Amino acid sequence: MRSSEATRIYFDRAADQLDLSENMRRLLLTARREVQVQIPVEMDSGDLTTFIGYRVQHNNARGPMKGGLRYHPQVDLDEVRALASLMTWKTAVVNIPYGGAKGGISLDASTLSIRELERVTRRFVDAIHDLFGPDVDIPAPDMGTTPEVMAWIMNQYGKYHGFSPACVTGKPVEYHGIPGRDEATGRGVGSLTLKLLSRLGRPLPGTTVAIQGFGNVGSHTAKYLHDAECRIVAVSDAFGGFHRAEGLDVLELHRYINAHSGKLEGFPGGDRLTNAELLAMECDVLIPAALGGVLTQANAALVRAPIIVEAANAPIEPEADAIFDERGITVLPDILANAGGVTASWFEWVQNRQYYQWGLNRVRQELDRILGEAFEQVWQLSMSRKVPLRTAAYMLGVGRVGRATVLGGVE
Ligand code: NAD
Repeated sequence: MRSSEATRIYFDRAADQLDLSENMRRLLLTARREVQVQIPVEMDSGDLTTFIGYRVQHNNARGPMKGGLRYHPQVDLDEVRALASLMTWKTAVVNIPYGGAKGGISLDASTLSIRELERVTRRFVDAIHDLFGPDVDIPAPDMGTTPEVMAWIMNQYGKYHGFSPACVTGKPVEYHGIPGRDEATGRGVGSLTLKLLSRLGRPLPGTTVAIQGFGNVGSHTAKYLHDAECRIVAVSDAFGGFHRAEGLDVLELHRYINAHSGKLEGFPGGDRLTNAELLAMECDVLIPAALGGVLTQANAALVRAPIIVEAANAPIEPEADAIFDERGITVLPDILANAGGVTASWFEWVQNRQYYQWGLNRVRQELDRILGEAFEQVWQLSMSRKVPLRTAAYMLGVGRVGRATVLGGVE
């Protein structure tokens, strides 16, 4: 199933519950602008390579559009379109004054030198600098992009528009970023997992957790949950993973990937397992924190965890979601579970615009407060309307965007 069809199914369920008119559905589903650009770059070898870049600006009814920039070989317009709409509902669920957007370049960063990656990024900014900016659309990191990539974006944008740190978030702390942004998505996933466990009446200490993906989100999620006395029994990356029934040493895992270019391969503190085995592991909480579409009709029946927390965007296909629902597996949906990143990005944007800096404690406190409020609203709606958490989160997000659209008017 195409990514945009999958998000459409979830949207429709919420729209039915909200009794939205056909005209409003069409307006909310259509992106304001979709851009595809050519990015010709001279490689280190002297050869010319042409990359394709995308930016989809989905909706700005509630504020400037906001969303990550993904560097991955599977990036295409349909995936970016789906992810842009998720950002619109996500910013609305946590009630921050943004709309939704997403971008991406189809490339495999591991095959490019750092200078080539910089040239691709700067040429992409050359192509779209008139289309984004602090009051219009603000990119951020996503899979395959780092704070360094965000620094190049800010620097290149500044060549056209002058000093504008708020044109992009997720920047390095030493270059107009903020402490706490880097960990924010994982911290949010961790803190919301604890809230869910508590609401489900499950004891926290010793809760077993398996995490797919040990990049920014997966590694910070592991650290947060490990600090909260959960047992991280398995982790993986693109090359496979490791498990240990007594719990992996998460600090050792962090040290290991820092010393091995971000990769888990060769980690000595656990037994090897494949990504397929990780998804089917016996554990209390399964956290997909890598790619979309990893839980499908084909493997949903194999999942043994009673709780799934969607740290990645769209890791569960709708057919698998229906199977989990039937089996009584609780799913905390992406548009709430991983909203910590965009929330901390908002803090960064606010501070950039005020030329002011908060400390790490304030960032963490505000993040926990905003996510905690959103979780309670989604939980209550799910209970009162007797719908799954995903439908409740979509109802909250889509309802807020719909109301803003009516209040702002379309004249
Ligand atoms: P990242 O690039 O830092 O890490 C991705 C991890 O996934 C790496 O460990 C990589 O090896 C692994 N991976 C890649 N392909 C895989 C595969 N086929 N099987 C198993 N593992 C694989 O990316 P990230 O920023 O941690 O993002 C992860 C997910 O979280 C994405 O879906 C992204 O959209 C979502 N997300 C990220 C943020 C953020 O702030 N970074 C915010 C919200 C959502």
